[in-house]
Amino acid sequence: MKIAITVDELILWDGTPMPPGYTASTVMDGMLRALREHRVEGVYGFAHTSPVADRPDDREVLERWCAAGHHLGNHTHHHACLNWVGAQRYCDDVRLAEDVLGDLLEAAPTRYFRHAMDMTGPSEARRGEVEGFLRAQRYTTAPITAWFGDFAWTAPYARALHAADRDAAAMLRTSFVEAAVARLHDHAEAGRRLFGADLPLIWLVHGTALAQDVLGEILQRFTDEGVELIPLDEAMRHPVHRVHSPVTPLFRNHLERIALAAGDEVPAPPPEAVAQVITSGLAEGEDPMAVYDAILRRIVDRVDGTWNWSWA
Ligand SMILES: [Zn+2]
Repeated sequence: MKIAITVDELILWDGTPMPPGYTASTVMDGMLRALREHRVEGVYGFAHTSPVADRPDDREVLERWCAAGHHLGNHTHHHACLNWVGAQRYCDDVRLAEDVLGDLLEAAPTRYFRHAMDMTGPSEARRGEVEGFLRAQRYTTAPITAWFGDFAWTAPYARALHAADRDAAAMLRTSFVEAAVARLHDHAEAGRRLFGADLPLIWLVHGTALAQDVLGEILQRFTDEGVELIPLDEAMRHPVHRVHSPVTPLFRNHLERIALAAGDEVPAPPPEAVAQVITSGLAEGEDPMAVYDAILRRIVDRVDGTWNWSWA
C-alpha cells in the first residue's frame, strides 16, 4: 500500500482544547521529530491562516515546518466550509491566505490547495465556480482519500491530561494509533472495491497534541505493515485524485464521496469505539460534540456564513 502523508492545521482551529504544556510549537517539534525519524521528507501541510493573522508570533511554527524541508499548501484563511459561504466569499478567503503566507506558499514546488474539511460545496455550480478560480490561480486541488477522524480525540485527550488521568490518556493514545491503522485499511479496501486495484492514498493527520505524542508510533505501525510512504506529487498522478467527486452536503472525504456515488461506502468506525473516545472524561449529561460545534460556529460567525452542519 502506498500513501502520501499530509498534515492539516499545523496550528489548530481557534478554541481547540489543548492539554497543559502543549502548544502549536511543541506539536510542531513532535511532528518534525517523527517525520525525521522515519525519513519522511517534503510533506505538504495545509494550514488555514487566521490563527497566524490573530497571533503573528505563531508564524514561526510554519516557518520551522518549511525550514525542515516540508511544504505548505493553501487551506483558506478562515477554514469556512464551502457549504456555508458563496463561491466569491470562499475565493476571497483563498486570497486572504496568500496575503498571510504568500512567501511560504510560493516556496512549495507545487501550488496545492485543499478545501476546508475536504468538502466541495452543496452544488456542482458553486464548486465549479471555485475550481475555475483555483485553476486560474494555478492551484491543484489535493483531496483526502484516507482519514481517521483524529480531531475527535483532541478534547478527550486535553481533559485526560488536565485531570492527570493516566489510564484515560493511555487509552486515548492506544485507540488513536489503532484507529489510524484500521481506518487506513478501510479506505484502502474501499479503493480496491471501487477501482479493482490498489490506489495510492492521500492520508490526513492534524497537528494535534496526540500527533505530537504518537505520530512516530503510527508511522512505525504503517512501516511494519508494509506501507510505502510516497510524495504527494506521486499520489496526485493517479486519476482518482484528479477527478471531481460528486458534491454532497455530508461530511465525507473525496474517496468517501466517490463511494457514496457508486452506492458503496467506506465503513464507519464502530460506534462503541467512537463513544468510548468522545465521552472519556466528560461530565454527566454533557454533549461530547458541543466543543467541536463551538469551534465551527466561531468560524461561521467570522465569515458571516450560514450554519449548516451535521456530524452524521
Ligand atoms: Zn482543515
